[in-house]
Amino acid sequence: MTIILENISVKIGGTSILSGVSGRLERGRVTALIGPNGAGKTTLLRALLGLQPLNDGAIHIDGVSASTLSTNDRARRLGYLAQSGAPHWNISARELVGLGRLPWHGTAQDAAVTDALTATDTLQFADRLINTLSGGERARVMLARVLAGGSEWIFADEPLANLDPRHQRDVMLRLKSAAHDEGKGVIVVVHELSAAAEIADDVLILKNGCVIGTTFDAPTLEAAFDMSFDLIAHGNGIAVLPRAI
Ligand code: ADP
Ligand code: MG
Repeated sequence: MTIILENISVKIGGTSILSGVSGRLERGRVTALIGPNGAGKTTLLRALLGLQPLNDGAIHIDGVSASTLSTNDRARRLGYLAQSGAPHWNISARELVGLGRLPWHGTAQDAAVTDALTATDTLQFADRLINTLSGGERARVMLARVLAGGSEWIFADEPLANLDPRHQRDVMLRLKSAAHDEGKGVIVVVHELSAAAEIADDVLILKNGCVIGTTFDAPTLEAAFDMSFDLIAHGNGIAVLPRAI
């Protein structure tokens, strides 16, 4: 199953934010969405979720035109971890993760909620108010909410931000497993380029609202970020380091 992006364009207030973006996103794979601040990554995820109207082009999700999905169908199929989404509500972690069950008319008592809390190492915070958690703890609870939703697709906007190295690793492994073991489609925005190299099966590199590459190599990264990188063999993969200045 596949998401097909067909030449999509988005303008906000007369400014072109995405221009002619095309591509295929596959279920069972992790696609890393990479690019500098302001490249249009969040806007692209919002367009995929139907939260951002298109000026041109079309999005097909598993054979269905995205614009025809009902709100509930969309919520069941597409899980969204928003960028640094710090909720202001004074609810417990378990209640927040339980919100992920709403499209299924579920509650915070569902087994899926406990599974998601366990998978993100947040079960110990289940009864804590969400605004008493540290940024990294809260980020893991927010991911748990998306996992609890059981959607076929997960769009995660910078899920590694604020996390310590071990929890970054855990989240990466969890997202990888969602794709490889559970067959979900995972689209993940990451600035940690070594992590992206490790986790991604596919990459989509955006700059100034355009796709400038789909390969993870030094020339493409250099074009994206206007700086030089060293790609160094590391374990089974590569480490991506900014070239020393
Ligand atoms: P990224 O996630 O890659 O950092 P975004 O998709 O958030 O980038 O934003 C892409 C560009 O669109 C940025 O220049 C941003 O300032 C602009 N933009 C996004 N949303 C709006 C908005 N609602 N109004 C005006 N400009 C916006
Ligand atoms: Mg963003």
